[in-house]
Amino acid sequence: MEVITIEVGPLASNCYILYCQNTKRAAIVDPGAEEQSIINQIQRNKLDVQYILLTHGHFDHIGAVKYLREELNAPVAIHAEDADCLNDDSKNLSFYMGMDIGGQGTADIMLKNGDKLYVGDITLKVIHTPGHSRGSVCFLSSRAVFTGDTLFHGSIGRSDFPGGDFKELINSINNKLMVLDDNCIIYPGHGPVSTIGREKVINPYIK
Ligand SMILES: [Zn+2]
Ligand SMILES: [Zn+2]
Repeated sequence: MEVITIEVGPLASNCYILYCQNTKRAAIVDPGAEEQSIINQIQRNKLDVQYILLTHGHFDHIGAVKYLREELNAPVAIHAEDADCLNDDSKNLSFYMGMDIGGQGTADIMLKNGDKLYVGDITLKVIHTPGHSRGSVCFLSSRAVFTGDTLFHGSIGRSDFPGGDFKELINSINNKLMVLDDNCIIYPGHGPVSTIGREKVINPYIK
């Protein structure tokens, strides 16, 4: 699996393009903004986008969904409990930030815990990790996990937004992420990459 990272938007959200070297099939994770940079990478690497995957519904992760779906004709997948965020500026928090991202359409695929998605030779498993938002999910491949705003390098996501719950967030991290292999690479929604093993040592929220 190859991973391209593009930092997008005013909150420096990480948009990831993951792809299979053999088939050039790809998925975009969290296209928060800057659709043209994302399209440029897709074209430069001649990728065939199978899915637009959303770790959750906050505006800084979904702002380029509408444009990319139309441009790439790829289905948009989000957990059912965050699906309303796509067309609701209060739920996706853009209203509170004074930046209306506009309607992003409706979800094509409602994700649930344990779902599997296939991108060429890559299998992605959906892990429901509520706490930052009700419908937060992580996408797990054989050697990496895309954690959205659930888990960061040395920190964790906020739980004070509507639908957030600190206890639930800690439970999700400890019971569903810290059980993964220590070598598993963490691709977070903001900031630098890490590994599960490293977070066990440096992350003050993990015990
Ligand atoms: Zn968020
Ligand atoms: Zn975010």
